[in-house]
Amino acid sequence: MTAPISTRAALTDANGAAHHVSHVPHSRTASQEAFEAAQRVLVGGVNSPARAFRGVGGTPVFIDRASGSRTYDIDGNDYIDYVLSWGPMILGHADPEVIEAVQAAVARGTSYGAPTLAETELAELVVEMVPGAEVLRLVSSGTEATMSALRLARAATGRDKILKFAGCYHGHADMLLAQAGSGVATFGLPDSPGVPAGTIADTLVAPYNDLAAVEAAFAAHGPDMAAVIVEPVAANMGLVLPVDGFLEGLRRLCDEHGTMLIFDEVLTGFRVAPGGAAAHYGITPDIVTLGKVIGGGLPLAAYAARREVMETVSPLGPMYQGGTLSGNPIATAAGIATLRKLRRPGLFDGIVERTVTLVEGIAAAAARHDIPVQTAHLGTLGGIFFAGGPVHDFATAKASDTDRYARVFHGLLLRGVAIAPSQFEAMFLSAAHSDADIADTLAAFDAVFADLSTAPDHHGYDRP
Ligand SMILES: *Cc1c(COP(=O)(O)O)cnc(C)c1O
Repeated sequence: MTAPISTRAALTDANGAAHHVSHVPHSRTASQEAFEAAQRVLVGGVNSPARAFRGVGGTPVFIDRASGSRTYDIDGNDYIDYVLSWGPMILGHADPEVIEAVQAAVARGTSYGAPTLAETELAELVVEMVPGAEVLRLVSSGTEATMSALRLARAATGRDKILKFAGCYHGHADMLLAQAGSGVATFGLPDSPGVPAGTIADTLVAPYNDLAAVEAAFAAHGPDMAAVIVEPVAANMGLVLPVDGFLEGLRRLCDEHGTMLIFDEVLTGFRVAPGGAAAHYGITPDIVTLGKVIGGGLPLAAYAARREVMETVSPLGPMYQGGTLSGNPIATAAGIATLRKLRRPGLFDGIVERTVTLVEGIAAAAARHDIPVQTAHLGTLGGIFFAGGPVHDFATAKASDTDRYARVFHGLLLRGVAIAPSQFEAMFLSAAHSDADIADTLAAFDAVFADLSTAPDHHGYDRP
């Protein structure tokens, strides 16, 4: 069990900081009690490990409700939210148009297990927006989408081996739970007990942004290589952009070897650009996976490819994949409302502008206080590493100062700003984040950085 945030820290903070955020949270007692109760009946008190604050210490904040750019916890504190349910809420929380669509859908029944008009409408929107998506299959989670995409690549090529990149997350399917070390491509080792070595034996792992390692893997295994799966913009080891030529190189190598290039755009889809990273970089994958934003905050994801590849999938082809709740009417309603609004002129660009202001402002604040940071932004995603040198792969990402991240995280939380409880996550922005939110957030960063440089150990909580 980790130590709670002490009252002393909150008071010190309240007395010491000049800030413009609505108010300083004074207590999270209700969250602490809720976490105790949750731990008795839910493993670790959470239903997804990233929520457990293990990366930063302390007790998870229990959320009561959310609206616009804010979440409200069960103690009555509110936070400008840059987690946004880990990406989906690109319009902000409880967007009125999404809520209305969901309410209308729910009143007509929650699931039928039969086709609906909404599934076609959502698929048409995606086909218009996302390069490489000609025909889709809707599923319920990103994990399902990537797992199915790999099955499809293997079924379509008749090959077994896949290549992934260290630090890229593709959900928790067995054969993707491998990241291995740096250096040349190596056979993956399972990251998790319960994943048989045999399951992972056909998974190769290369460092992100290392085309030479990919070339070496193809030289050794080209004829057996079913797929290369990549986050075209890596956003699950912190935000790491592809270096010039990396994605082009993957496209070329896959073409040369008859290998399927899978862009896992579960996170980057509709966020890096309305058409995702494929649209931004002008590189079309063979198979694309989508999740998060596509469901507007409800469980929905998809995999897609050109028609002839998708015809491998049942009922047209031999590859089986199905789902009781796939294409769920409430989730599709939320997805349609979200994508429609996202395409409204100026809306996406507005989020991008505020992302730039935020990330450049954080970098400037860090410079003022002599704190070494590496920042990045692309589309509606921002990233900050507390590292002295450039971050281009998992090894360099892991060299960042996670203790400093934890201190900044808790300092911000006390000032009403919520970033992800881990150094290795991106910052997400939404259409609901206003210029005032950005200004308040930058003021909070400035105050936290000032504290760091004057009293680095005076933050009132203990690392686990
Ligand atoms: C979140 C994520 C997944 C997994 O999606 P779930 O809906 O959590 O199963 C897969 N790939 C990427 C790139 C993701 O960010």
